[in-house]
Amino acid sequence: MKIFNLLRENIKSLKPYSCARDEFKGEASVYLDANESPFNSPYNRYPDPLQLEVKKLISKLKGVPVDNIFLGNGSDEPIDLLYRAFCEPRKDNVVAIDPTYGMYKVCADINDVEYRKVPLNDKFDVDAYKLIDSANHNTKIIWLCSPNNPTGNSLNTDEILKLLQWFRGIVVVDEAYIDFSQRASFVKQLEKFPNLVVLQTMSKAWGNAAIRMGMAFASEEIIQVLNKIKYPYNINLLSQEHAKKALQHPETKNQSVEVILEERKLLIKNLNELSMVKEIYPSDANFILVKVDNADMTYNWLVNKGIIVRNRSNITLCGNCLRITVGVSNENKTLIEALRAFSDIFK
Ligand SMILES: *Cc1c(COP(=O)(O)O)cnc(C)c1O
Repeated sequence: MKIFNLLRENIKSLKPYSCARDEFKGEASVYLDANESPFNSPYNRYPDPLQLEVKKLISKLKGVPVDNIFLGNGSDEPIDLLYRAFCEPRKDNVVAIDPTYGMYKVCADINDVEYRKVPLNDKFDVDAYKLIDSANHNTKIIWLCSPNNPTGNSLNTDEILKLLQWFRGIVVVDEAYIDFSQRASFVKQLEKFPNLVVLQTMSKAWGNAAIRMGMAFASEEIIQVLNKIKYPYNINLLSQEHAKKALQHPETKNQSVEVILEERKLLIKNLNELSMVKEIYPSDANFILVKVDNADMTYNWLVNKGIIVRNRSNITLCGNCLRITVGVSNENKTLIEALRAFSDIFK
């Protein structure tokens, strides 16, 4: 399978911008090549355009070579870049599971690319046949998210593998919540599938949403395309420095994950005792999707108490559902107390 043939014509022939740091990469004592100020070190210098130090740490943690890693300004950057690389506006299309993360659709709309939704089944799981069935020869990308947002469940591994084998285009598996799951990451499958892109992020389990550090793992061919079309200095120095510090302490991340998983268990137990709660869907993430009697009323009640959850009741298959992020103990307690009070009044 040739990735090159999937690219848009303008990207196939693109001559990328060559910045000063691309043209000279060695060590020197006097840098007069980038019109930088000689004052205010170290912030006077442009940051490493390919973030090698950060990638080396990620490479060690994930067991993925540096050349198979792309870093973006959040996962949102590689999501957008994949459209720009592969999808000819008004001609190509993408196929995605429904419901799922909203950015795949927003980026499709921005790039003027047709977005084909395929509903998940009543277990919020994916059927590879149905996705393939809605694809045609202009389908360039299939969007999957596992554990999925807003449903929280992991998608069936065998169905994802079928898609990777059958589909002659890019298959994206967004693993933003993988650290909360017991499942193996699809990064293990990168060597087998040159059309696989795995997205991860420092925004959730790593607790670093503010620094905007998204990761894409893929074949060298795909990574080189993303590098060619990204902004030259897409990750600023402050974020690179902060990411390095965090990545040197994966145990801190692991401890937070353990606390959140314990709290998730407790939250589910407490929610189950409320009569207003109709269903709690299985979650491999740091949030749970909960079906209640009346999502709008419950949502407004909570807002009035200064507690904000996500009302997902207008989303496909999510009627009367709230998406609740797992917080620390006292936050979850505050939520449960507010819901108990609501239950008492409206029962
Ligand atoms: C939160 C989330 C992300 C993270 O996006 P960033 O831009 O890296 O903060 C990506 N995908 C999904 C499904 C998410 O829920």
